[in-house]
Amino acid sequence: MTSKAENQARFGVPVDSMVFARGVRKSFGNAEVLKGIDLNVPTGSVACVIGPSGSGKSTFLRCINHLEEVSGGVLLVDGEFVGYDLRHGKLYEVNNKLLCQRRADIGMVFQSFNLFSHMTALENLIEAPIMVRGMSKGEAKDKAHALLERVGLSAKADAYPRQLSGGQQQRVAIARALAMNPKVLLFDEPTSALDPELVGEVLVVMRDLAESGMTMVVVTHEIGFAREVGDQLIFMDGGVVEERGEPREMIANPQSPRTREFLSHVL
Ligand code: ADP
Ligand code: MG
Repeated sequence: MTSKAENQARFGVPVDSMVFARGVRKSFGNAEVLKGIDLNVPTGSVACVIGPSGSGKSTFLRCINHLEEVSGGVLLVDGEFVGYDLRHGKLYEVNNKLLCQRRADIGMVFQSFNLFSHMTALENLIEAPIMVRGMSKGEAKDKAHALLERVGLSAKADAYPRQLSGGQQQRVAIARALAMNPKVLLFDEPTSALDPELVGEVLVVMRDLAESGMTMVVVTHEIGFAREVGDQLIFMDGGVVEERGEPREMIANPQSPRTREFLSHVL
């Protein structure tokens, strides 16, 4: 097992990098879905990812979170290997315990909320800290109440998901991810399933998180959020990064015709 510093030095990863991808590839059978993705997300920054359906955005997030194994390239989260190029040999041992630990440090928020439907909001928040982190029930509950307050839902601790609106469920899902003290939070179109009037309350929570210094990778079609909150904007198309840049600049003046075309549909 190599140390974080050794890993970073070996691949020229900036020391403040939280997520680092170079030439990341992913195939499903003969279909190559990611064709060499490069990305560096410095600690405390927000990267927003846009792109048409099928361009590989979710697959890339799933690779970062060990839900998919990368087929090539180098992928590190906080200096720890998630993926590796076969040319470099096997750089880490994958076993279930290690995977479990790594996933615990990487929060993920899905389009469809994915709350445990038979558990209250509070129960959703305390489950993983108790089961995975070994936190005491009392401590987990205290933390859960504080997090529910943070997302504006302290009155809903005992509500079941079906008793909550979509926006409220997604705020519980964000609080649940935070309950694990993740190093980085991944969002996969977190507002795409919401009625338009509920989108804002979720974006407010996400903006608050960004301002508090959380490192975030956000796949979203909310261009206003990307412009105001994102530190970098990535446009993916056909499994490659077609364009990247400072969000305001890129949205105002996209260089690639494909970026321009895409933005004209979502702006
Ligand atoms: P996006 O999130 O940008 O819409 P995805 O990452 O979901 O794109 O999908 C990219 C491509 O990969 C699509 O063509 C999709 O059909 C394919 N794909 C995703 N997951 C799998 C899988 N488990 N098996 C086979 N193909 C997949
Ligand atoms: Mg997707």
